Amino acid sequence: MSNSEHTPSNTVIALEGVTKIFLTDDLQTHALSGVHLTINRGEFVSIAGPSGCGKSTLLAILGLLDTPTRGSYRLSGRPVDSLTLAERTHVRNHEIGFIFQAFNLIGDLTVFENVELPLTYRDMSASERKQRVRDALERVEMSHRARHLPSQLSGGQQQRVAVARALGGNPAVLLADEPTGNLDSRNGEAVMTLLNELHRGGATLVMVTHDERFSRQAARTIQLFDGRIVDEQLGHRSHVTAAHRPHGLFVAREHGGSRE
Ligand code: ADP
Ligand code: MG
Repeated sequence: MSNSEHTPSNTVIALEGVTKIFLTDDLQTHALSGVHLTINRGEFVSIAGPSGCGKSTLLAILGLLDTPTRGSYRLSGRPVDSLTLAERTHVRNHEIGFIFQAFNLIGDLTVFENVELPLTYRDMSASERKQRVRDALERVEMSHRARHLPSQLSGGQQQRVAVARALGGNPAVLLADEPTGNLDSRNGEAVMTLLNELHRGGATLVMVTHDERFSRQAARTIQLFDGRIVDEQLGHRSHVTAAHRPHGLFVAREHGGSRE
């Protein structure tokens, strides 16, 4: 149970005791076990940990693509656990921008249409929508490819389009799941430059990455292991000091027997 009256107004994400259990046939997978996590507005947090430790599951829950089996989630102070499907979609469209490792562009839509698509669910005029798409494509330097299909672009270009898609909605929270994982280092750095730009513009950024060069750019790195937050480091560019660290960020626990 969460106590809403204690959620500070600068808290954008508050998870309490979030557990996710997947059931496939007769097999139970505990992807997340009792995760407590608070992220403040404008923070840049990276999430690290070995393959299968629950990073993508955590991001999917943060992005309202999935729901916890147990525990509570407040987004911008609002409980989102009991929203209807339509309400969740509405909140996601307005507050969340996604960037995935595999870009996840729609293959038979042009670059322009891919960036425009999430905006078609928003309440704005067609001319404002088109202008936002043009602005977003310009920021990622992909205006000259607006009429291309994703398959006609390199991986680096596709990810820049995916960043533009996330940018267009001007999201309160930007979630990136290994955004540089499929890119060479030059393209990876270009994508990170864009993400940092969004962060400086006020976006709250939560990024899963295996690349230490990039996780160090975050103010805070959270270590996941076996579905639990086991450690937290403050990056050297951090302006968050230990004294200002919010309480209850993580609960380090001993891991019981390993699950192979
Ligand atoms: P990571 O992103 O850290 O590699 P994931 O969050 O993708 O890890 O997965 C965590 C665990 O949950 C893994 O054991 C994975 O196999 C399992 N898992 C993830 N999604 C599903 C699903 N839809 N159905 C069943 N098991 C899943
Ligand atoms: Mg993953």
